[in-house]
Amino acid sequence: MNPVLQHDLNDIENILDKAKQQGIDFLNNLDNTPTSNTETIDPTRDLNELGLGSLSALSEFNERLAPLMVASSGSRYWGFVTGGSTPASIVGDWLASVCDQNPQAIKTQGGTSALIEFETINMLLQLLELPKTFHGGFVTGATMSNFTCLGVARQWFGAQFGKDFAKNGISETINILTATPHSSSIKSLSMLGIGSQNYTVIKTAEGNREAIDIVDLEKNIQALNGKPFILISSAGTVNTADFDDFEEISKLKEKYSFWWHIDAAFGGFAAVSDKFKPLVEGWEGADSITIDCHKWLNVPYESAFYLVKKDHMNLQIETFQNSNAPYLGNALDNFNYLNVLPENSRRLRALPVWFSLLAYGKQGFCDIVENSALLALHFGNALIEEGDFELLAPIRLNNVCFTLKGEHNQEKVSQFLSVLNDTGKVFMTPTVYQNRKGIRASFVNWRTTENDIRIVMDEMKNLILDLEI
Ligand SMILES: *Cc1c(COP(=O)(O)O)cnc(C)c1O
Repeated sequence: MNPVLQHDLNDIENILDKAKQQGIDFLNNLDNTPTSNTETIDPTRDLNELGLGSLSALSEFNERLAPLMVASSGSRYWGFVTGGSTPASIVGDWLASVCDQNPQAIKTQGGTSALIEFETINMLLQLLELPKTFHGGFVTGATMSNFTCLGVARQWFGAQFGKDFAKNGISETINILTATPHSSSIKSLSMLGIGSQNYTVIKTAEGNREAIDIVDLEKNIQALNGKPFILISSAGTVNTADFDDFEEISKLKEKYSFWWHIDAAFGGFAAVSDKFKPLVEGWEGADSITIDCHKWLNVPYESAFYLVKKDHMNLQIETFQNSNAPYLGNALDNFNYLNVLPENSRRLRALPVWFSLLAYGKQGFCDIVENSALLALHFGNALIEEGDFELLAPIRLNNVCFTLKGEHNQEKVSQFLSVLNDTGKVFMTPTVYQNRKGIRASFVNWRTTENDIRIVMDEMKNLILDLEI
């Protein structure tokens, strides 16, 4: 064995102790860590010939890299839709690295850790009150989940013409209908060879909505004259957390032949609260659903899952099987994750979620969701009370989409946000909503409290004065 590796192996307890202490210090200091910074490194560092050992690498990390870290898992990082690791999810994540499993098969091939993934998906279905008619698996994020689901949808579309697109390539124009898709679904259309411009935009519903207009949807369906299509619908749009009407879409599913995909990356968690569950009523009728865990489930990054109806398992295997590697087994007889999703080797990505579900239970996640929604309302009210802001859309769940009041202030929105973000006290993201420049604050993180809203409002009030808005 290489002597540095041998030394590290002998010193493993000490090394992990140091890493643990470092983790504790980071988490204890999260509140004082800025949400943005301007630190840089020169990334041209030369590779050393001889290994330094873990502890020396840790020293260099602390000196050069640690200053780059921002409080993205902290309570005032409201940009994008961002959760933050909980204690249980960190335990699961650490152990996933320590145990270093490759969850694939449930029967053979040197391990059965895929059963842990099965169990986790099964508990997630219970959390979201979805039926067991769905099969699921873990991928790195909602983007890859959309890709996986739409990949199976593409295969379904070909099958309607008796064609196998996975084998022979796409030989029919694929009809896609959607109203307010997330950019990652469009990216998936590009990756799947369908084409990022090849979709039909359906109107949104009347009255400041991002949800699909059902009447316009049906008009467009009829224009297809009975041809099949793929519907990409939304459970939670990123600007205003709007939801398509799933009960109405279910009715259309009885009349027309289409693959129904729901991007429920964060909005799916509405199902854990009795209060918000009506938003997803009827979603169990979908063929496939995307859900992110590194958002409202508050686990570390690279965690999302797809759900596809079990009836479609053959299509899924046709799409993702490793067909020229006989040693991997027959996909149908012998379930193996590497034949149903994009990646082959994967880490035990289910483990942080498994720990979180056991540790916090349904009540824990219901509390996180309801607390986030309440904080969104508080923040919205505080903005209105302050007087210099206006909401661009009603607050339906956890996202607040707002801007500086008055058309004359439109040109100041970007500057206002960048100076605000530079304070390091809060981080929000810019957007454009109905042709107006706006700012989004998304409440997802389990740590956020009303005190955070007070801190942010104080910063915002000061800025309004400083920038003479
Ligand atoms: C965040 C998000 C995505 C993309 O998720 P990643 O985890 O970044 O890949 C897709 N759809 C919706 C609705 C989202 O909110």
